[in-house]
This record gives sequence, C-alpha cells and structure tokens, in this order.
Amino acid sequence: MVRKLIAGNWKMNGLRADGLALARALVVRAAAGDPPDCALAICPPATLLIPIADTLRGSGIRLGGQDCHAEAKGAHTGDISAVMLKDAGCVYVIVGHSERRAEHGETDAVVHAKASAAHAAGLVPILCIGETLAERDAGETLAVVERQLRGSMPEGLKAPQIVIAYEPVWAIGTGRTPTAAEVAAVHARIRPLLKERVKDGAEAPILYGGSVKPSNARELLSIANVDGALVGGASLDAADFWAIAQNSP
Ligand code: PEP
Repeated sequence: MVRKLIAGNWKMNGLRADGLALARALVVRAAAGDPPDCALAICPPATLLIPIADTLRGSGIRLGGQDCHAEAKGAHTGDISAVMLKDAGCVYVIVGHSERRAEHGETDAVVHAKASAAHAAGLVPILCIGETLAERDAGETLAVVERQLRGSMPEGLKAPQIVIAYEPVWAIGTGRTPTAAEVAAVHARIRPLLKERVKDGAEAPILYGGSVKPSNARELLSIANVDGALVGGASLDAADFWAIAQNSP
C-alpha cells in the first residue's frame, strides 16, 4: 500500500522569521522519533522556498511550490517556472488551486499546461479540482470534477508522477466539510478516470482538501480512495499539522 501524503499549503502566509520557525518546528518533530507513518510535504510561499529547502534537508519532509508558469523561462514578469522550483529544491507544485482558478482566471487548459510544465521539469503536480457550492447545489459535483480532471490532467503520466487533490471550493477555509459518503462518492469517481488516463492509476494518490483539522483528520483519511490531505489553514500551526499527520490511519 502506498503511504498517505499530508501536504501543507501555506498560501500567502509566512515571513522569514515565522516561516522558518514553522519549518524548523516540523523538522524537530520529525527528528524526535515516532514520526507519523505518512509522507509529508509543505508548500510555502516562493520567497521562503530556498531557505526552507535548507531547513528540511535530511528530515524526509518534502518541499513544494504553490504555482508555476507553463513556460520554463522568459518574459513573464512576476511568474516563476517549474524549472526554477525544481532548482530551489521542490518535489511538488500545486496547480489549479481554486483560489488561482477564481482570482487569476485559470482555465482547465491553463492548468493542463502548468501541470505538463511541472512534469517536464521533474516535479510532481498536485492538481486541484473541486466544485463550487452552486455547482454542488445544482447536483453537478461529479460532472464538474470529471470535466476538470479530463481538461487539466496531462496525458502519458505514470502513478508516481501525479497527485490529485479533490477540494470542494465551499469547504476551503470555511470549517465545513462534505460528509464521508460525499467524499467517498467523488473519490470513487476520480479513481476510474485515473486508471483510464494514468499508468498504474490505481496507485496515484487522491488527496482530500478543505477544512482538514486534527479533529476530523482520522475520519476523512479513513475514507476509501482518500490517500492523504491537502491542508491549508491548519498547516500554519506545527502542532495541528503534526496531529493531522499522526491521525493518518
Ligand atoms: C487549501 O487551500 O488547499 C485548503 C484545503 O485550505 P483549508 O485547509 O484552510 O480549508
């Protein structure tokens, strides 16, 4: 069985002092014995990637970026490429997060290009998909998730080269979560699509994201086809992030 992956998305949070302190607190826990039986990753803001790569070295905790451009380099002021993230020490990059889809108008085609660039650079894209509340209320959840997955996932990948994160938009940062049955139904829909499109797709991790915290982690992480979690707010607290990882069954 593939180990679950608990990935922290720090979003636009963290100055040098507190960001490095948070990374160090995780490293101290990782070194203290009794590490959780899951893979761990953190995705800090771009300004902190290089110092945090140094902090994480040897800890087993992996580093990820939060976004990348589809091109490897060039005249794209303010952007960062997948090649640069790889050079900074990243293993993962989040692509297609709903905040970028909403705030930057990223379409499935844009996300597809970014995920392809990430793969070409040797990174593992953590590809986010998920429905809005209006789409859920309209009974469109499965159709939306399928459309996003088909439109944004690159072709020709093998299982270790892609991570999917199902994140209902209405659950992000709200304290609300779908029921276990609702999460199970979506992940059960994603799995055959992965098997269809990805070599060894049965083993490609499907994370759940949206208001994961220590108190609900065990229930969410016990659902069939939930292979880990993408954690936003709770990943900014070392004790909470660690508790989520330790609640990984
Ligand atoms: C996220 O933004 O990816 C996320 C899951 O956020 P939160 O855990 O705060 O809901």
